[in-house]
Amino acid sequence: MSFWDTVTLTTRFSELPKSFYTPIAPQPLLNTRWVTWNSDLAKQYGFPIEPTDELLQAFSGMDVPEQFAPLAMKYAGHQFGVYNPDLGDGRGLLLAEIATKNGEVADIHLKGAGLTPYSRMGDGRAVLRSSVREYLCSEAMAGLGIATTRALGLMSSDTPVYREKQEFGALLIRMADTHVRFGHFEHFFYTNQLAEQKLLADKVIEWYFPECAEQEKPYVMMFNQIVDRTALMIAQWQGVGFAHGVMNTDNMSILGQTFDYGPFGFLDDYQPEFICNHSDYQGRYAFDQQPRIALWNLSALAHSLSALIERDDLEQALNQYEVQLNGYFSELMRKKLGLLTRLPDDGIIFDAMFELLATNKVDYTRFFRQLSMLDTQESQGVVDLFIDRVQAAQWLDIYLSRCNSELDDQGKVVRAAQRCEKMRQVNPKYILRNYLAQIAIDRAEEGDFSELHRLAELLKKPYDEQPHNEHYAKLPPEWGKKLEISCSS
Ligand code: AMP
Ligand code: MG
Repeated sequence: MSFWDTVTLTTRFSELPKSFYTPIAPQPLLNTRWVTWNSDLAKQYGFPIEPTDELLQAFSGMDVPEQFAPLAMKYAGHQFGVYNPDLGDGRGLLLAEIATKNGEVADIHLKGAGLTPYSRMGDGRAVLRSSVREYLCSEAMAGLGIATTRALGLMSSDTPVYREKQEFGALLIRMADTHVRFGHFEHFFYTNQLAEQKLLADKVIEWYFPECAEQEKPYVMMFNQIVDRTALMIAQWQGVGFAHGVMNTDNMSILGQTFDYGPFGFLDDYQPEFICNHSDYQGRYAFDQQPRIALWNLSALAHSLSALIERDDLEQALNQYEVQLNGYFSELMRKKLGLLTRLPDDGIIFDAMFELLATNKVDYTRFFRQLSMLDTQESQGVVDLFIDRVQAAQWLDIYLSRCNSELDDQGKVVRAAQRCEKMRQVNPKYILRNYLAQIAIDRAEEGDFSELHRLAELLKKPYDEQPHNEHYAKLPPEWGKKLEISCSS
């Protein structure tokens, strides 16, 4: 019996009118083979723990099961602030949909599957390098507890693909709760297909926000949900030092899941104006611009929903964004510093900390992790991260005396061990530093996938001490801080 007869596949997107997509089969690559298979995720969706040849045949497009209804989605979007009506799945496909045991449906998306009507000037392919980056980063984000699409597996091939140099085509199998982007709504609005847009909103509510259907204004509730989830996602990005790099509205999931990994970067040194995308000349998507850009993107979505939702309701929802973002971010920062309560002067401690981190260009991840170790390690370990040690020591004194004002249920001062234990659960020891990804890529391009596997395993548990992996938590070497990542993928 075929594996595909043992799982429940659905075709709900393909049951929508043809104005939503173009049916199209993946175009196979030469000599496709497995690079990696995500056993943990496979288990979650009922796939075999080990990849089989049958799965390779299905996912590579060599033998597409008849239950699949592969299609390229049509969407549009604002790229770097400019509306582009011509977007869509240009090198990806919604290959199939799978129902989980608890009745939820997940998209199985194939990235790098060949030309579609939306490929424009592109070749429909993805190279190994960028696919490894997406694989690793989506796993890293999942490990950090940040909502994200995930990668089920990765395949390489012998098909030449031309970027700045000749590379090889790869295929990434992406699992996501949805592939509906802000840009889907924008497409129907700007082409004046308002009945289709309403249908899309109805389906989004039915599939993802069923609780909104019972409300008085379901579309308003849907938009409120999108705003809220986006605010949470951005707060978490800022908390962990993640820069997405291409926050175009076609790369924004309506479920607030981190989506479409390209030239992303995690902060090494704390530099608020960090630009990870080498092609982002103006710094539109710089790290510290992300909260503002998400609001810009939500406003673009709001504008496109103006036929469905009244202006006042849209404005009210948008006004909530900043409140929600600040709420999520300050809650997260409080946890990162091990503070349970809120005191009037806390803002001063936070501001002074960010100021010191920036002027001293302190490693963002190391700083918070080191602060989380003060139950067993000397405070000198924190101070030594700064150039200006006098100021750092002063800040630390203020911070530690603030910690001593935290009382537990019995009214006793919270012990350092208690505080630090909790802090270690929110301050990762291991993140996907750019140079670590680059080493895994260089090896993978030589046909050695062991580093990719090791990193993927490591990043599943970023908050745990992993003594045998201590070297992955080191500061990046100088060459590793200067890597330039462009949009070319
Ligand atoms: P991205 O920057 O990866 O989010 O892609 C933006 C748009 O360009 C989307 O519509 C993609 O489908 C399309 N695209 C990106 N790379 C390619 C490619 N190599 N071939 C065809 N379309 C592409
Ligand atoms: Mg995209």
